Amino acid sequence: MITIVVDGKEYNVEKDISLLKALRANGVSIPSLCYHPALKKPIGACRLCVVEVCQSGGAAKTALSCAVKTSDGLQVKTSTDAVCAARKKAILQLLTLAPQSEILLKLASDYGIEIPFQPDGCIRCRLCERVCSDIVGAAALKMEKRDGRNYIVSVEGACIGCGTCANICPTKAIRVEDKESVRTIRIRNEIIGVHPLEQCAICGKRFATPRFLEYIHHRTLPHPDVKDHHHYCPSCAKLYLVAS
Ligand code: SF4
Repeated sequence: MITIVVDGKEYNVEKDISLLKALRANGVSIPSLCYHPALKKPIGACRLCVVEVCQSGGAAKTALSCAVKTSDGLQVKTSTDAVCAARKKAILQLLTLAPQSEILLKLASDYGIEIPFQPDGCIRCRLCERVCSDIVGAAALKMEKRDGRNYIVSVEGACIGCGTCANICPTKAIRVEDKESVRTIRIRNEIIGVHPLEQCAICGKRFATPRFLEYIHHRTLPHPDVKDHHHYCPSCAKLYLVAS
């Protein structure tokens, strides 16, 4: 065993092992995302485990603790200004690759990094809002300012559950989930609409919401020749058309 000094406190650790491993084994908290003790060679990809090290009276320098080997007398500082600056830089670089990563957003918060805007996958093209208003006619979506930024939000109670907004969204920011007999439409973690699903009169498949079917019924009243189709799912409606 050898002795290393971490933030002024002495620790007895194994010689020639990863400093990160030794620090963690002694309860010293060091962030890292690319290190795993079961893998032989650290690659230093996330650069989060940076610490300041100083050996045998040499100059202190920042280094990735996953790649530094423990040696007798090694002096380690885990939270100097240089370490914090290097970690902040690493967090910001990682956030450009994975801006919605919860663990990175948590690290950013821990290190006092202000994330001016939380990406939500929406490019503000307003296709969903426009199609819902201009074509569907439900006007169930609108732009709303939150902290100075525009967000697509739902108009309470207006959604009829057609799913057109999700179909037209170029970035899949709006999602439709049909689970058993319930359709849920979401943007971010916010619900646009929750609807029961009606069954196809022929095959029994759950395929459309009652509010949508009701809406289509009224829209097609002037066209009695198509009104019966609304009770059938798209596949059965095609067969119905061929048969009739
Ligand atoms: S699912 Fe709701 S919000 Fe989306 S287009 Fe249809 S009515 Fe509008």
